Amino acid sequence: MEDSFIREMEQLLCAQEEEIIRNLISENESFESLINDSVPKDNADQAAGDIDSKVLDVVTRRELQKLNQVRNAIARIKSNHYGVCIRCGNKIPQDRLRAIPYATVCMDCKTAMEKSAEPK
Ligand SMILES: [Zn+2]
Repeated sequence: MEDSFIREMEQLLCAQEEEIIRNLISENESFESLINDSVPKDNADQAAGDIDSKVLDVVTRRELQKLNQVRNAIARIKSNHYGVCIRCGNKIPQDRLRAIPYATVCMDCKTAMEKSAEPK
């Protein structure tokens, strides 16, 4: 993948991270400490699980999930794994990454995962 494209996505992701944090803090000042405590982790599910144990409303939960995804994408850029599908190992098309910079799976895998996902 082109280095210039990766840099572009990194800037986008950092901007998204800042925006999400700003939104969360404006909703509730106590989130500032919560967010600062949740450092990026290799395992997205683990990070999300830590935060999910707290009682949060649906919107906030969604924002925090997105924040985790964005932070994981930034971590993947730094470890040179960005743009590779975590499920099948194929490259994720740049068009898809432009639309969703924190995408971790290709369209085929996303569709397959959504079909197998159990609604709560
Ligand atoms: Zn895939």
